[in-house]
Amino acid sequence: MTPCNHRIPLATPTMHGDEMAYIQEAFDRNWIAPLGFNCDGFEAEMGAYLNCNRKTYHHALCLNAGTAALHLAVKLAGVKRGDIVLCSDMTFAATVNPVTYEGGVQVFVDSERETWNMDPRALEKAFEKYPQAKVVMLAHLYGTPARMNEIVEICKLHNAILIEDAAEALSSEYRGRKCGTFGKYNILSFNGNKIITTSGGGMLLCENEADRKKALFWATQAREPALWYQHEEIGYNYRMSNVVAGIGRGQLKHLENHRERKEAVYRRYEKALADLPVTMNPYLPDSKPNFWLSCMAVDKGIKVDPLDIVCKLNACNVEARPIWKPMHMQPVFKGHDFISVEESPVSEDIFARGLCLPSDIKMTGEEQNYVIDVIRSCF
Ligand SMILES: *Cc1c(COP(=O)(O)O)cnc(C)c1O
Repeated sequence: MTPCNHRIPLATPTMHGDEMAYIQEAFDRNWIAPLGFNCDGFEAEMGAYLNCNRKTYHHALCLNAGTAALHLAVKLAGVKRGDIVLCSDMTFAATVNPVTYEGGVQVFVDSERETWNMDPRALEKAFEKYPQAKVVMLAHLYGTPARMNEIVEICKLHNAILIEDAAEALSSEYRGRKCGTFGKYNILSFNGNKIITTSGGGMLLCENEADRKKALFWATQAREPALWYQHEEIGYNYRMSNVVAGIGRGQLKHLENHRERKEAVYRRYEKALADLPVTMNPYLPDSKPNFWLSCMAVDKGIKVDPLDIVCKLNACNVEARPIWKPMHMQPVFKGHDFISVEESPVSEDIFARGLCLPSDIKMTGEEQNYVIDVIRSCF
């Protein structure tokens, strides 16, 4: 294949112009500092969006990264040195790193085949082995909702706190309820490649205002209410700037549009690859993914290496990536326990057979056809 004359990316920011109006207001009012009216507005608007059909309201806090939100969630959950945290195995490292910041120990829980997310049966098995575990850290991979009914039930049964990493799953729904509202603590990311972006940023969503206040206190250097700088705890500088929050407010207006266009990208791949021995990343019929990244897995027994497809795509100027490498296979987590109910781990199998496809919503039909042609030429 002749390489495409420009690069076709995996996912890049899509701006609309509304963002500039909020930024302009921040400049006009000289409100450039962290926190401020755009942060307040972004929190209120996101809270309203996530909880549109529910009575319980999630209290939102803007932060400078999804990772910062995860760190504060781990602190709020009370994770201390040596505490076991049961974590999704197939996710991005940012989901699980904050456990280490607080001295906790990750035990990784295998995926199941229907969503590629945490297997409830493996979670149950993990609780049998670690009945003392009090926190579960769950991620929705590539925007596909996990089996939340089972996961929430198991957490309740074992009196464990659920932290939901919805960094990739903003606007995804499970049985009509938005991802990012199932956990006691939930996080979002607005990193540059996510479905909406603030260039960089994140949000923590708490069930009660007291937890939100505590997180804000830690995020603003743990300054005690005194005239002088008084500190009784270690704090962090995790605040979001009022300028950046303006980008988020403008982006939020286009979130549903982004979701629809992500789904259209997925559907085009699904249709065009239907006759090849591959499957797209699967989801449950009672869930509505945001299709943040379209992925495919080469069927078992087919002698086509997904790494060869990734290399071929890259050689043709198309950005593609292997599936996120499971955490229990990462050298940094060597020695951590991994719980599976299968003879051979599902996460390892998906990693061995899968790849992430370009999913930029600005990709034209022509560009996507080119990507599809390259993929087809590998079979
Ligand atoms: C992007 C991402 C994060 C980290 O968010 P940042 O805003 O980049 O810190 C955490 N978890 C998952 C699953 C992600 O994809």
